[in-house]
Amino acid sequence: MLGFLLARQGVDVFVIEKHADFLRDFRGDTIHPSTLEIMHELGILDEFLKRPHQQVRELAGKVGSETVTIADFTHLPTRCHFLALMPQWDFLNFITEQASHYSTFHLQMQAEVTDLIEVSGTVAGVRAKTPNGVLEIRAPLTVGADGRHSVVRERAGLEVIDLGAPMDVMWMRIARHSTDPAQTLGHFDRGRILFLINREDYWQCAFVIPKGTADEIRQRGLGAFQQEIVALEPFLQDRIEELRDWKEVSLLTVRVDRLARWFRPGLLCIGDAAHAMSPIGGVGINLAIQDAVAAANVLGPKLRQNNVTESDLQAVQQRRTFPTRATQRLQIVIQNNVIRRILSSAESLSVPWPLKLLRRWPILRRIPARVIGLGFRPEHVKPR
Ligand SMILES: Cc1cc2nc3c(=O)[nH]c(=O)nc-3n(C[C@H](O)[C@H](O)[C@H](O)COP(=O)(O)OP(=O)(O)OC[C@H]3O[C@@H](n4cnc5c(N)ncnc54)[C@H](O)[C@@H]3O)c2cc1C
Repeated sequence: MLGFLLARQGVDVFVIEKHADFLRDFRGDTIHPSTLEIMHELGILDEFLKRPHQQVRELAGKVGSETVTIADFTHLPTRCHFLALMPQWDFLNFITEQASHYSTFHLQMQAEVTDLIEVSGTVAGVRAKTPNGVLEIRAPLTVGADGRHSVVRERAGLEVIDLGAPMDVMWMRIARHSTDPAQTLGHFDRGRILFLINREDYWQCAFVIPKGTADEIRQRGLGAFQQEIVALEPFLQDRIEELRDWKEVSLLTVRVDRLARWFRPGLLCIGDAAHAMSPIGGVGINLAIQDAVAAANVLGPKLRQNNVTESDLQAVQQRRTFPTRATQRLQIVIQNNVIRRILSSAESLSVPWPLKLLRRWPILRRIPARVIGLGFRPEHVKPR
């Protein structure tokens, strides 16, 4: 996204991606109303909405046997009053297609960054491994947008503040039948948490487990795991055995961290590379996109004049620190006060008071919708 935004401003950009395509493991399919708004500002929203996607207007939670609507996106002050679900690889293909309309945009796939090039303490580019040998790219600014296991941030020696997480998540797909509930649901009960995201012909399922217990769960066997899922959602009983192998269940080791400094001379980290987010609220993509918009707004004009200073990089971090910290703080409060408690409880749960309030006063559902759908301090694309 940052490559697209900078190329659009006339800045020469070289994006490198280690894989041959974007078609990989599930990493979240949510395109938030704030991202849709950015696409509207870029004039590409109509084109985007022609691609296959689903629209989610409400999010619901099931506590024990009671269903409560948690977020209502229909009142957001944005063009789209829904969260779009689209596989991340389709979204990335769409963005690279749009970016390639600009002659200043260059994308090289199958190029894996292995090291930084440094000149007198300033980052001057990267070295990358490609099928044709080592590629060296020199640039006045290198941006590490290489995710939660960022090589760039590690090679740059940037200090990571680990905020901790009490859970991991097991992800899988289970077939969806036309008679199933339509809603995207979170279900909480007796030490278990299951999220079901409606993807039309299948459910993208997230089963939340206490941190570090995946091996124990695998040892108990696939049959026992299947029954834990069915205990929460009995309607899945008739197809749960389609889950035949642990290979169909991916483990996400949850991390919540952020860099103390997102930059060094010649280098900036954004997205998960600067701040890995908890999956709570499904907001990691939103934050990464917002970082890209903020970085393009601040750095585009400077890059055009080939005059990026450390204080410009600091300005990007400053702009994005509040939304990052506020979101992570909220995620940690929920992790410690809700997730940890549910995962350690053997009792059937009753609806907690904050959800009772949402049930009683539907207007309050606009608050979670705003936090998830827009986030704190949403960014806007500055005119070129
Ligand atoms: C299982 C799972 C489910 C999730 N669900 C959601 C959700 O529902 N909603 C949500 O908003 N967020 C979700 N997230 C989080 C979300 O995926 C991230 O927050 C978001 O993708 C961060 O974007 P990013 O561009 O910073 O990093 P990434 O999306 O991780 O992208 C980094 C890119 O860099 C490439 N790369 C990595 N290392 C190198 C290298 N050395 N050289 C070259 N290229 C490299 C990677 O291949 C990748 O394409 C989920 C994450 C996971 C793992």
